[in-house]
Amino acid sequence: MTARILVVDDIEANVRLLEDRLTAEYYEVVTAFDGPTALAMAASEKPDIILLDVMMPGMDGFQVCRRLKDDPETRHLPVVLVTSLDGRSDRIAGLEAGADEFLTKPIDNVMLLARVRSLTRLKMVIDELREREASGRRMGVIAGAASRLGGTGGRILIVDDQERQAERIANELSIEHRPVVEADPDKALMTARGPVDLVIVNATCKTFDGLRLTAQLRSDEATRNLPVLAIVDFEDRPRLIKALEIGVNDVLSKPIDPQELAARARTQIRRKRYTDFLRDNLDHSLELAVTDQLTGLHNRRYMNGQLDALVKRARLGGDPVSTLLIDIDHFKKINDGYGHDVGDEVLREFAVRLATNVRAIDLPCRFGGEEFVVVMPDTKLEDASRIAERIRLHVAGSPFRVMGGRELLTVTISIGVAATIGSEDTPETLLKRADEAVYEAKAAGRNRVIARAA
Ligand code: GH3
Ligand code: MG
Ligand code: MG
Repeated sequence: MTARILVVDDIEANVRLLEDRLTAEYYEVVTAFDGPTALAMAASEKPDIILLDVMMPGMDGFQVCRRLKDDPETRHLPVVLVTSLDGRSDRIAGLEAGADEFLTKPIDNVMLLARVRSLTRLKMVIDELREREASGRRMGVIAGAASRLGGTGGRILIVDDQERQAERIANELSIEHRPVVEADPDKALMTARGPVDLVIVNATCKTFDGLRLTAQLRSDEATRNLPVLAIVDFEDRPRLIKALEIGVNDVLSKPIDPQELAARARTQIRRKRYTDFLRDNLDHSLELAVTDQLTGLHNRRYMNGQLDALVKRARLGGDPVSTLLIDIDHFKKINDGYGHDVGDEVLREFAVRLATNVRAIDLPCRFGGEEFVVVMPDTKLEDASRIAERIRLHVAGSPFRVMGGRELLTVTISIGVAATIGSEDTPETLLKRADEAVYEAKAAGRNRVIARAA
């Protein structure tokens, strides 16, 4: 994904380090070394994201952030504050100043890219909205009104099977919100469909998987836009990264700091009210830009853009891009036998299984109908095939619960795998090979993975 990132830090070495890492990932980087220059560039350079150091002489990061968030022209730009490792008070002050995310120094590359990627997505959605609104003035009026929406008095759903922790969180939040606690994930999904402003999910629960619950929230149209704040163990890095990739809006580490919790909850609720307000005041819905309506996965349009950039990058050297093309077997029989709505349920459950069984760097997308594509950057054909096999087993291995649990359906899939080869390959030729492999898999009896080397 291409995005323009403004990096602000008074220390040149810090700027260069971030610039190198981001340009290596094909982001476009512009730089500033002090607050006033950063403000000027935020207006003139139209960055998509701002990475802002807190400690700067003269105007510090908090002041810059507050000014950006006060100005209707720059308010929508996501700001990531870069704080020191023990910067708890910095983080709280930063949230109060309107920051969207944090990174701590020394900056971890994986966290950096996960944050940048998720904010790029948010920015795409906001841009789409702004583009649709022909009159900039009207947008300004709406955004101005929206910015006065507060972040308190929210209905917060806490999903946690650890009773004492849940109670502590609820007590803390009840000072300015209306929290409810739910220990059962199925009941939580139901509650989330009601009027809720924020879901706090414990992703370290013993009795259920909080990340799976998050994926389910994302796959349901009624709960798709709900912000999710996940409690994660920061020592468990793969899971932390997974949480960010699955579309968690924010993460909080254990042990939970009550003040930080309150500040993060407020930020999420304020942002939700802002986007809800925009959505209600503009004619169209947010998701059209990048999301498939039925499953909540990325849509084909988004996938095309990503694949294009990744194939170009693979041509320059390094590991290839792999793609999986996945087609549900005999899907028509499910529609014919149980009805279209059950077919839709199967597609949604499949999307959840898919999203929870690819790696953090992979992009699962709905290609159309009952066909899905997973784009795998920097992945060899053999590795892609192994992941495809894992997905296949995860689908065929346990039946799909549909119709409120009244029916169990065995579902299988056929997967075609292809990887870019040479310098001539294009997204079209790559997907064509994957498609031919699916066809072979179907002909060979379905429920299997076939990789096409060339
Ligand atoms: P095969 O194993 O050869 O792939 O058989 P199939 O029945 O899965 O394949 P076919 O392409 O014949 O049928 C796909 C069906 O998927 C046809 C179409 O009506 C259905 N379908 C496409 N989109 C949706 C959707 O959004 N919801 C539902 N319920 N069905 C859909
Ligand atoms: Mg098909
Ligand atoms: Mg099919």
